[in-house]
Amino acid sequence: MRCRKCSHPAVIKMPRHNIALCKDCLTEFVHTQVRRAIDAHRMFTTNDRVLVAVSGGKDSLALWSILLKLGYHADALYVDLGIGEYSLQSRQKVQRFTEAVATSYQATLHVHTVEQEQGAGIRELATLVRRPTCATCGTMKRYQFNRVAIEQHYDVMATGHNLDDEAARLLGNVLHWQTDYLDKQSPTLPASLDGFAKKVKPLHRLTEREIAAYAVIHHIDYIVDECPMAKGSKMLAYKRVLNQLEADSPGTKHTFYLKFLDRQAKQRQEDSQTITEQDQHRLHPCETCGQPTSTTVCTYCKMMAKAGSHA
Ligand code: SF4
Ligand SMILES: [Zn+2]
Ligand SMILES: [Zn+2]
Repeated sequence: MRCRKCSHPAVIKMPRHNIALCKDCLTEFVHTQVRRAIDAHRMFTTNDRVLVAVSGGKDSLALWSILLKLGYHADALYVDLGIGEYSLQSRQKVQRFTEAVATSYQATLHVHTVEQEQGAGIRELATLVRRPTCATCGTMKRYQFNRVAIEQHYDVMATGHNLDDEAARLLGNVLHWQTDYLDKQSPTLPASLDGFAKKVKPLHRLTEREIAAYAVIHHIDYIVDECPMAKGSKMLAYKRVLNQLEADSPGTKHTFYLKFLDRQAKQRQEDSQTITEQDQHRLHPCETCGQPTSTTVCTYCKMMAKAGSHA
């Protein structure tokens, strides 16, 4: 198999584009797709300070690496959830990547250890507050990212969500007609309150497979295992269905998600309304911590008060 662009030996076949690419051409392809996402959705510029949410997985570490290579000012935050061996290994991968790559760009890794700061790992906290672990985890990560972004003056928070993640999420939202969520499923979400960072997904044009190939050829050592709490999740089921459709008809995920974004952009132009305008009618600062919430006290503060009263 030869590279379609330069005829060197190919490292990946990409049926959705009907091409195969060599190492250098895949690198160029990935960087172009990320630049295109950043520019088309006005995510950030080289003047902005970006905080990347890293988990130790391929997507977030590849994202951090790509942003540094493209000349952006990107630091990272890792939230140690205290999930046994999974957290130990993922933390190690993040720390090794920081030492091997990120420090040569003068980038900083922030670490928040849930067990140390909140007194219990995420599973124990979830049991205390009687909520599902993943919901507790989502609230915890959102809160910690907002907190670090505001305390350390970051303009933008970037996550490693890829095309597979976004297509699966879109499928879930459509299957349940969650129109509120559909409105917010955008690669760029402006700050919901003044002073908070906007949220962006620069990898949304790339598939999981393309990012995995990029990580391998650039020697990014990542944790391959999924978080054990993801087992049986609906997202994994939606991904399986989409993978089947993609195998039968290459390009399905790409068309499904990117055409949705095109329609969403047109609709917004017609309505001349941005997500910020919609949100500003609903969100205000939490009375206790000041983070955005639609109620008087945010979910994180309620959760921590409940955990404290049971501790
Ligand atoms: S699977 Fe659940 S607990 Fe694990 S990282 Fe994802 S949201 Fe958190
Ligand atoms: Zn090539
Ligand atoms: Zn709060």
